[in-house]
Amino acid sequence: MAHKILIIDDLEIMRTMLSRVAEDFGEVVTASSGKEGLLAVLEQRPSLILLDVILPDIDGFKVCEALKKDYRTRDIPVILITGLETEDEAEVKGLSLGAADFVKKPIKPEVVKARINTQLTLLDKSRELEEANQELTHLAMTDALTGCFNRRYFLNAADMELSRMKRHGYPVVVAMIDIDHFKDINDTYGHSVGDSVLADVAKVCDDTIRYEDTMGRLGGEEFAVLLPVADDEGASGVLERLRQSVENLTFEGHEGLRVTVSIGLSELRADDLTVEQGLKRADEALYAAKNQGRNQLMVE
Ligand code: GH3
Ligand code: MG
Ligand code: MG
Repeated sequence: MAHKILIIDDLEIMRTMLSRVAEDFGEVVTASSGKEGLLAVLEQRPSLILLDVILPDIDGFKVCEALKKDYRTRDIPVILITGLETEDEAEVKGLSLGAADFVKKPIKPEVVKARINTQLTLLDKSRELEEANQELTHLAMTDALTGCFNRRYFLNAADMELSRMKRHGYPVVVAMIDIDHFKDINDTYGHSVGDSVLADVAKVCDDTIRYEDTMGRLGGEEFAVLLPVADDEGASGVLERLRQSVENLTFEGHEGLRVTVSIGLSELRADDLTVEQGLKRADEALYAAKNQGRNQLMVE
């Protein structure tokens, strides 16, 4: 990964010497005082800072302390450059202020190089770990086939919405959406066409609902949506549009294929302990919609 290294040192000869070493790792920027250094950190956003302890204005310890207090800069590793005289004391003080490492004067280029390398390798590893974590979080939340939230995440999000509703008193509607005769679609066109029907239906649902609505795949060919700040009437309008959009879907290569959904909806109640109680009522309405001939919406 490309890195930028900031060198803060008042002596030009030191800046030149350190720059030469740091250049092997990426772009190098320099500052010649504590004040200038602090500004440069904010402007340049370096990956790593080499910081001289003895500076004419704000000393290196104070600069380090300021960097570690600021949420914008506290994660940038700082390597302190200490003088000979105060070695041990300076190291203890620097570490307690959050410095990542030290190099001692007189500077030995190969030592500086090794220490920079260690810090940047650590940085790369922690970035990789962060990306992997984000990916895992995403995988744990979503259903791979449709990209919508999975059952567990949906129920969690829905329960949070239920408690918000109780606090603020606005209405929330939950709905169950189930594809009609989906088994026949699989049997007639094959499982992989069935899969792409699932993905298309999920996309239509997602395109129809508002940004603040939540949708999840509860399992198989069954989806649920949660519409906050919507009553039966408002939600019915949205879900009726959704029903029609699914009905109008066409599938390339399968001109005869038509898909419909049945939908059951229920407004959450203040005495619902969990969203699953509301979903159970929505499911009963869905069952009624199936019994009445499918491709329709029923309010509990
Ligand atoms: P109804 O109108 O009463 O809902 O009938 P249905 O055929 O849709 O309902 P049923 O519950 O009998 O069948 C659901 C089918 O969905 C059976 C199952 O094989 C299929 N299915 C579940 N998950 C998937 C999946 O991920 N991909 C595919 N292609 N099919 C799936
Ligand atoms: Mg079905
Ligand atoms: Mg079903």
